[in-house]
Amino acid sequence: MSDDDDTTALPQTCVRCGRQSLLRIVGRCADCIGELGLAATQDYDGFRAEVKAEFGVKG
Ligand SMILES: [Zn+2]
Repeated sequence: MSDDDDTTALPQTCVRCGRQSLLRIVGRCADCIGELGLAATQDYDGFRAEVKAEFGVKG
C-alpha cells in the first residue's frame, strides 16, 4: 500500500496556539476555532474574515 500521499492529515502548527494539529482552517487548529467561536472576540472577527478570503464564504 502506497504511503506517499502527503496531501492529507499532515500535522501543522497552529498560528494561534502554536500546537500541532491535523485539522486547521486558515492556520487555526480545531481547538482554537472552537474557542474563537465561543468567545466571539475580535480574534474571531479576524478569523472569519480570513475564512471568507480563503473560501469565499458569504457572511
Ligand atoms: Zn490552536
